[in-house]
Amino acid sequence: MARSGMVRGLTLILGKSGGQAMKSVDLKEHIRTIPDFPKPGILFYDISTLLRHPGAWRTAVRDLSRVVGAGAPDMLAGIEARGFLVAGAIAVDLGIGLAMVRKPGKLPGATLSHSYELEYRADSVEIQTDAVESGRSVVVVDDVLATGGTAMAAIELLRRAGAHVAAAAFVIELGFLDGRACLDVPVVSLVRYDR
Ligand code: AMP
Repeated sequence: MARSGMVRGLTLILGKSGGQAMKSVDLKEHIRTIPDFPKPGILFYDISTLLRHPGAWRTAVRDLSRVVGAGAPDMLAGIEARGFLVAGAIAVDLGIGLAMVRKPGKLPGATLSHSYELEYRADSVEIQTDAVESGRSVVVVDDVLATGGTAMAAIELLRRAGAHVAAAAFVIELGFLDGRACLDVPVVSLVRYDR
């Protein structure tokens, strides 16, 4: 399946040389970078320009659906907030359900929480206790894979809820941060930046 061999197998990078769908749309042309956001020194990869271009967004959703769907997951788990946009579109495309991985205090009812360490601070993510049925195969979805801390926290949380996390899927992978090395599931991404 994979066009380019990457760590932990089952990895597919769809680029210009990837699937048919990419022949007419170069997603990088629709992803904007904004320096010093949200704080000095961070180069922010902004998908709002991708979202507002129907053809490019459709291509991104279709291509990510194709690789995610190949594993026939039972459902997706989108990470707040831009991950909801990506996961929601793919879930509709694949005809499967969706769980929300949210920041603390956002979800009503009984929740499970998982705390994790980032470079300079601790953070946590939550899901509702009944968000996934035990044993279900789930793919974690977000817009950007950076250090991998957020996605790994989501994976650990979903496992505590009884899910089998089959893979993690992203529109953008910041390869120079090697976030995929943090993740113990197969990783797929559409666009990779190596600085
Ligand atoms: P990380 O836990 O370091 O992999 O960070 C991933 C999360 O932070 C994702 O939800 C991204 O939306 C966001 N993020 C981190 N770095 C960036 C960046 N340079 N540009 C855009 N979003 C980012």
